[in-house]
Amino acid sequence: MMGIYIHVPFCKQACHYCDFHFSTSLKHKSALVNAICKELEIRKNELNLPIQTIYFGGGTPSLLTEKDLKQIFNTINHNFNVIENAEITLEANPDDLSESYLKMLQSTPINRLSIGVQSFFESDLKLMNRAHNSIEAEKSIHLAKKYFNNISIDLIYGIPDQTKDQWIQNLEKVIELDIPHVSSYALTVEPNTALHYFIEKEVIPPVDDDLAKEHFQILIEVLKANGFDHYEFSNFSKPDFSSKNNTAYWTGKNYLGIGPSAHSLIKNKRSWNVANNIKYIKAIQKNILPADEEILDKTDRYNEYIMTRLRTKWGIDLNVIEKEFGSLFKNYAIKLITEKLKTNLLIQSKTNPNIFKIHPEALFLTDGVSAELFMLKLNTQ
Ligand code: SF4
Repeated sequence: MMGIYIHVPFCKQACHYCDFHFSTSLKHKSALVNAICKELEIRKNELNLPIQTIYFGGGTPSLLTEKDLKQIFNTINHNFNVIENAEITLEANPDDLSESYLKMLQSTPINRLSIGVQSFFESDLKLMNRAHNSIEAEKSIHLAKKYFNNISIDLIYGIPDQTKDQWIQNLEKVIELDIPHVSSYALTVEPNTALHYFIEKEVIPPVDDDLAKEHFQILIEVLKANGFDHYEFSNFSKPDFSSKNNTAYWTGKNYLGIGPSAHSLIKNKRSWNVANNIKYIKAIQKNILPADEEILDKTDRYNEYIMTRLRTKWGIDLNVIEKEFGSLFKNYAIKLITEKLKTNLLIQSKTNPNIFKIHPEALFLTDGVSAELFMLKLNTQ
C-alpha cells in the first residue's frame, strides 16, 4: 500500500507565521494542474502498489475548482490502482467552504476534509493574518457536516495574547460542534516570516514556550476527557477517525509527493521537488522531474523510526529495531533507553516489555528526547 500527496501551492493571502511553499497569484493555476497531472503520469511506475490514501495539501487545495479536481482524479484513476475505501483528504480553508463548493466536493471521490480553522477568536485570526474570520470558522463546520462525516480541524495554540480561557473555549467549541479529529500545533516563529519580523519590531509580543506548554497540557486533558484518543503528538481522534494518511507517514509507508516542493519516500529514497511554481511547470513540460534526492542509509532510517514512533501512542519497539536495523542498533537503543527510564523521560509498556513510550509528563519534550536517542553517523561508519 502507498499514498499520494498532492501539493497545491496557492493561497489567497500569506498567513504571518507560514513558511510553506505557495504563491498568492493564481495566474499559473491551470498550467500547474496540467503539470501535476503530467507528473502523476511520468511517475506512475515508480512503485506499483495499490493507493490507500490521497491527500491534497498546500497551500490551499480548496482553491481547486471542479474542473481541476476532475482532471486530477481522471489522471489518478487512469494511472494508479486506488483501493475501494481509500481515504481521500482535501485541506480546506473556512472561507472557501460555501454550500455550493461543498456540494461539488461531495460529488468527487474526496471523503475527508481537513479544515484550517486555527482559532475561533477574531483576535487570534487577525494576529495570524488568516483569510477567514471567526464567524466563517464556525459556519464552515456546520456546513461541512451536512456533506462530510470525516472532518478534521487544525487549531493553533501558544498564540501571543491568547488567554488560557480563550484556548479552553476553542477546545469546548470542538466538543460542541462534535468534530471527530483535531490536529493542533504550537505557533512557531520561522525565519523570514512576517511573524518573525513583527516580533523583532515589537509589534507582536514574542511567542512564549511556557504558554505553549500550558496550552498543550490543557489540549490533552480536555480532548482526552471528551473521548479523543491522543494517537500522535499533535493529533487526536474519536474512535475510527484517526487519519490513515498521517499514520502511513509515521509507520514508514511509501508515498509519492506530487507538485512543487512535495516530498516523496520510495523504498530508501527520499526526494523533493523544486519549491518554485514556474521552474516546476517548465521542467515537467520537458518531461524532467525537477527533484533532488537522498538515499537513506540504515542510520537515517533508524533515526527516522525513533523520531516518528516516539511521537505516537505506539512507541518504539526493540523487536522492530532488531529486525529492521540489527543487534548493534538494538543494543545502542537499550543503553540509551535505560538512561531515559531512570530520568522519567520514557516508560516501558505494561503489556509488552519491548515497547517504550514517552513518559506522560514529558510529552512536551518528545522531540528533544528523540534526538537524544539518535545514532550519530560517526558511530557506524
Ligand atoms: S493558508 Fe496555509 S499554506 Fe497558505 S499561507 Fe496560510 S498557513 Fe500558509
